[in-house]
Amino acid sequence: MQVRCPVCKKKTTWEENPYKPFCSERCKLTDLGRWATEEYRVPGERTDDSTDKIPEKRDDE
Ligand SMILES: [Zn+2]
Repeated sequence: MQVRCPVCKKKTTWEENPYKPFCSERCKLTDLGRWATEEYRVPGERTDDSTDKIPEKRDDE
């Protein structure tokens, strides 16, 4: 039986494949990493720290 690797779209065998449905360990890790990365991107999370936390400078004293 042949399956298509969801990561690189290469054809790979299902039997005797410890990384199925991926073709290799690398693609398996790539897929896992993709999910982990998406979890980090929480909606509403602020990534720009330039708008906030601007120290107020008072030079007119
Ligand atoms: Zn692959």
